Amino acid sequence: MKIGVFTIGDVDLRLLYRLVCCLEERFLYKFLIESNCPAPTSAFNAAKKQYFAPALINKVKLSFRGDVKYSLGVTRLDLYSSSLNTVYGDANLNEKIAVTSYYRLRPEFYAYQTGENPLFDRLLKEAMHQLSHAIGLKHCYNRHCVLYYSSTIYDIDQKSSLFCLDCEKKLKKTASYDRSNGYRP
Ligand SMILES: [Zn+2]
Ligand SMILES: [Zn+2]
Repeated sequence: MKIGVFTIGDVDLRLLYRLVCCLEERFLYKFLIESNCPAPTSAFNAAKKQYFAPALINKVKLSFRGDVKYSLGVTRLDLYSSSLNTVYGDANLNEKIAVTSYYRLRPEFYAYQTGENPLFDRLLKEAMHQLSHAIGLKHCYNRHCVLYYSSTIYDIDQKSSLFCLDCEKKLKKTASYDRSNGYRP
């Protein structure tokens, strides 16, 4: 049982491989890059020129193969959800699927500059955040924790790409539960 990574549409593969390496370090699961899904035309809203994030989650669900417990879709498509005009990602706890988009994490979107590699740092934080939701973890009130709720790019830049001790404990508990139920790393 692994965490499956799906790309949706064209994705920078160097960014993706680096992301997966860092995720493997931080989560106690093996990651497997599964397959590429073409950008789903049914998820595209022509008026907004954006893709509906829950529909991308569905697309990942339909691409499942093999022994995958949780999934992460990575995309460069611009996303929105039912309640928000733009989102950096979304997660569905029932389906155990998260998606994250780096479209609006790119530094050229913002007037201010931060860090040496803002795009990668933001993508890592957002992927960790959404994947943790898919695994069952909730928002955290520690503002340095990656599970702190962040609605703006500034909030994302302010927090770290690490779990606080409480969230780390919860993640370990879930991973050991999964292991005792047949998960083999
Ligand atoms: Zn969240
Ligand atoms: Zn936390």
